[in-house]
Amino acid sequence: MGSARVHYRTFGCKANQYDTERMRQRLEVGLATGVPATLDDADLCVINTCTVTNRADADARRYIRRVGRRNPDAEVVVAGCSAALRAREYRAMDGVSAVVEGHDPAAVLAAASRALGPRRGGLVQMGTRATLERTHMEAVGAGVLRHRAGATRGWLKVQDGCDRKCAFCATRLARGRSRSRHPDRVVAEARVLARSHPELVVTGVHIGHYGRDLDPPSSLTALVRRLLDEVPGPRLRLGSIEATEIDDPMVDLMATSGGRLAPHLHMPLQSGADPVLRRMRRWHTREQYRRRALEIAASVGSVGLGADIITGFPGETSADHARTVSLVEELPFTYLHVFPYSPRDGTVAAGLSGPVAQRVSRERGRELRALADEKGTRYASRRGGAEVEVVMEGTGGTALTGDYLRVAVESARRPDPLVLHRGRLSSDGTGVRIDAATSDTLNQTGTTVPGDANGQETDIGAERPA
Ligand code: SF4
Repeated sequence: MGSARVHYRTFGCKANQYDTERMRQRLEVGLATGVPATLDDADLCVINTCTVTNRADADARRYIRRVGRRNPDAEVVVAGCSAALRAREYRAMDGVSAVVEGHDPAAVLAAASRALGPRRGGLVQMGTRATLERTHMEAVGAGVLRHRAGATRGWLKVQDGCDRKCAFCATRLARGRSRSRHPDRVVAEARVLARSHPELVVTGVHIGHYGRDLDPPSSLTALVRRLLDEVPGPRLRLGSIEATEIDDPMVDLMATSGGRLAPHLHMPLQSGADPVLRRMRRWHTREQYRRRALEIAASVGSVGLGADIITGFPGETSADHARTVSLVEELPFTYLHVFPYSPRDGTVAAGLSGPVAQRVSRERGRELRALADEKGTRYASRRGGAEVEVVMEGTGGTALTGDYLRVAVESARRPDPLVLHRGRLSSDGTGVRIDAATSDTLNQTGTTVPGDANGQETDIGAERPA
């Protein structure tokens, strides 16, 4: 057959989005695919699943059924976190050609080429428990991603997996223990990504534990310092990171890098009540989180501060919820991601007593969201008139500041999406007037990566075994 048309659908977090890009890159090289396709005209659909809640699993199943209705001739390869934990269920679904238990781009390529090959339509059995161990390592990134399709901000994945045991989390079950990429490989990938992305987001499943498993051990701060020194073009931003795992040198870097390390932290809180935090099996207390957030805000100054909060966790009382509200009121959050608790089979939380009615969790969520919106608006207007550096977002006419304000762009010409732009915020902090391009990432970081020229997945240095 000619060049196959492939449609990708990603569910879940930035780590999953990164993994999809690795799959896309692998298939473009291995199958000479490169023709973008919609769900309706694709020869192959790659579905990268998420398993954070039962609803996330259900979303993936619904999407597979949708492909079956809209494009019954398409081959369907199901991969990702949910596929790692529920492979048998996916294999039993109509229209599924192959299941890859995890995120290994090579396994997705093998599954895709067999599905599209002469035995078209036959079920390809991929991913035993043994391969799951391997995919856990592969997902960390043995190759180098060159580009995140259609995006100005690149995801730079530095580790995979998690050693914590939060009671509600199935991600760690699907992705295994924390494994760090070698810093040389991360730097090499950052140089390549910087050619097409003026901002790189340092991402993973639990980036605060970066480097602990390396020999010799290292740290996220050491890695970020290297990236700032050796990859001069793009702005760096930390992905979600636990408050208790941000060390003082990282806070100093954020305060003194002149915006190269974006003044923005997304620090999962989950609850502001100690009894709930204990039932969630979180390792920090309300006070530890509070103190760290206030210290960071005092050191960095204008900082975008976000958090995840779960409402209606089993056993959460109205007094617990009030503790969360008061903590949100006190801390300088600029936005929140609030989720009503949704059970996930196989997690400790799914077996806890004291379920909270959905109506109550949703109501608590609404209250927190309204509070967060109010705080965000106040923060933006305090920033009104400030000089900022922004990265363009898609084609929607919005841009993102270092401190994570999404602002409308006021500019006579469409600003170049490949560079950072300097501008001034409007008086209410919701818009930006662009002055001039302030960096040219295309020319500042033209490092050649072996193998990149012919489009091969590149292997730089030895990856530590998982
Ligand atoms: S820290 Fe907790 S919520 Fe985050 S990935 Fe690890 S186990 Fe899941």
